[in-house]
Amino acid sequence: MRLFDTAQKQYIDFTPTGVASIYTCGITPYDSAHLGHILTFMTYDLLQRRLEDTGLEVRLVRNITDVDEPIYKKAAELGVDYRDLAAQETELFQKVLRQLNLRPAYAEPKASEYIGEMAAAVKTLVDNNYGYKLDEDIYFDTTKLASFGSFSGFSDRLLHNFMAVRGGDPMRLGKRSPLDFLLWRGISDLNDPAAWDSVIGRGRPGWHIECTVMAEANLGTPFDLHGGGDDLIFPHHECEIAQSIGLGQAQMARHWMHIAPLLYAGEKMSKSLGNLVFAKDLLTTYEPAVIRLALMRYHYRTGGEWQPEFLDHADELWTRLQIAGSICSPVSAQSLLNELQIALDDDLDTHRIIHALEEFAAHNDGPIRDCDVFSQAMRLLGLIA
Ligand SMILES: [Zn+2]
Repeated sequence: MRLFDTAQKQYIDFTPTGVASIYTCGITPYDSAHLGHILTFMTYDLLQRRLEDTGLEVRLVRNITDVDEPIYKKAAELGVDYRDLAAQETELFQKVLRQLNLRPAYAEPKASEYIGEMAAAVKTLVDNNYGYKLDEDIYFDTTKLASFGSFSGFSDRLLHNFMAVRGGDPMRLGKRSPLDFLLWRGISDLNDPAAWDSVIGRGRPGWHIECTVMAEANLGTPFDLHGGGDDLIFPHHECEIAQSIGLGQAQMARHWMHIAPLLYAGEKMSKSLGNLVFAKDLLTTYEPAVIRLALMRYHYRTGGEWQPEFLDHADELWTRLQIAGSICSPVSAQSLLNELQIALDDDLDTHRIIHALEEFAAHNDGPIRDCDVFSQAMRLLGLIA
């Protein structure tokens, strides 16, 4: 199988042996999962299904970022306990993924369950001279790492812009570099509900150290593939790598794979813009297979503008496939299965998959009989359980 590796910026042969270990950054549970999230997680589900199809065991870890500033803000707006909000949204998210027939994750670690390990990792970074105190907080010293920024390969201007709009604080006074990022927020306020006592005092971890620790704890390093939305390339994943180096790990992940965003009304679907399409709403009208087929119109590295009419096309295709499947001959289903495997092996070419399905639905005219191969092909795409 070939995949496009974001770190190497080229196609690579993705050939894990025996076990494939994959870590994908999951959601911050303060609102419902939108279609952009679903495209991301369905893409890794297709990858997992194809790897399992080739006989590999897949260990896919998908964390839940339940220690993160947006949860506290939303909970305060709603007047609820942030833990209740996070638990409720996590449950809804997992339900939607089950409804959409995603393969179960090997582990779904919650950040709140690893605070002790995160504090210990921050202490090690400070001991290794990669971390420093600023007032009550602890920052990663990016000036100690000449390679910082090379993973994303972005210009200095982009690094600063993205740091500012994606959870960083480049303008904070007293930092050694504007790109230095938070490892630990020290909290002396005893009324703050999101603070833990630890070896480095009372507080809570920064976002980036959470994933470095949860990935290492659940998969060890190096693992085969690290994924997430492409807005995580910088700063989140660049910072994860920096921390991993600071902790003395030889390599965090062998390969990196990122998913482009879905747009709606010309903008990336995002909570701040309010241009969201929620999976749970679509599931009241459309079968899970239809939603998956509609999303397969988008290649994961391109994303694109969400077209609601794709759902109706997909609905029609799914109906035709089911009819074709009920009269499929083993020969035509075998060639369909082969074509799907080839398409998945080519950087998850979902355009080619949709084309193959349409051809099959249009031209299949075999005798009526059961067809296990057809079911196998549909399972490979997660269209049936
Ligand atoms: Zn992450």
